[in-house]
Amino acid sequence: MLWRGRRQSDNIEDDRSDSGGGIGGGSPGQFRIPIGGRAGGGGSIFLVILVVLAGWYFGFDPSTILGGGDGGLAPGGGGQITDNGGEQDSGAGTPANDEMKQFVATVLAETEDTWTGIFKSQGLTYEDPKLVLFSGQVRSACGFASAAAGPFYCPGDHKVYLDMTFFQQLDQQFGASGEFARAYVVAHEVGHHVQNLTGIMSKFNQMRQGMSEADANQLSVRIELQADCFAGVWAHYTAQKGILEQGDIESALNAAKQIGDDTLQKKTQGYVVPESFNHGTSQQRQTWLARGYKSGKLSDCNTLSGPI
Ligand SMILES: [Zn+2]
Repeated sequence: MLWRGRRQSDNIEDDRSDSGGGIGGGSPGQFRIPIGGRAGGGGSIFLVILVVLAGWYFGFDPSTILGGGDGGLAPGGGGQITDNGGEQDSGAGTPANDEMKQFVATVLAETEDTWTGIFKSQGLTYEDPKLVLFSGQVRSACGFASAAAGPFYCPGDHKVYLDMTFFQQLDQQFGASGEFARAYVVAHEVGHHVQNLTGIMSKFNQMRQGMSEADANQLSVRIELQADCFAGVWAHYTAQKGILEQGDIESALNAAKQIGDDTLQKKTQGYVVPESFNHGTSQQRQTWLARGYKSGKLSDCNTLSGPI
């Protein structure tokens, strides 16, 4: 990606010198890119809910959309969307203004420009998220989180949280190298922010509270695949600016493959438990990322109904 010299976002909060201020624990309420999973059963009231959700979303009611932002920190349920792999190593060098930070700030700026334009075309106003760089652990409105949980978006404070050591993990542990693999990670988290602004996320958090774990996982997969599709939409517009290089899209697609639930589970535990999938299989993640990329249309990101 030809990112050097382009605008860098002011919405970066660099908390890498802080240690997060406490003993980290799990943090319910985030939206992650997790690797791990849980187990569960199956369900079908779920399908009905999905249709309702889809109808509601694709009605695209501006008043609902602009109301977003209560965050929907489901009590005891989780609202944070984490997007990660398994373990981590903390403590990579953290020079105050290193190149990777500049890269992330540039990608964030590109997402701001793209989403501002898309929202405007719908008569809406995009509100920029903040992106917090942290090291090791961090406190968010969604609770404490450790870098082990991976990058996440917290709807409660409209912030993306990123420990950039995840990029090394992505490269070395997951086999997803390349700048644009990293850009995809940022764009995916920003996709959750878009879901938050449009009210999708608070609906999701409400809905999953009464669900069995398996149903909640299935719903989570749809939400995550939509964030992948939104990342693809962003990539579509970024390509139109002429700043993508050969191999960029391939490296994002490879990242989507490497962090698919099935691939990760095979890698980490040697077998696959489909009921525990909460981000989607490698194939699903690639498919939705590619779909958003191909058309650049939000209407092609309806992961909430129909087959995925
Ligand atoms: Zn996610």
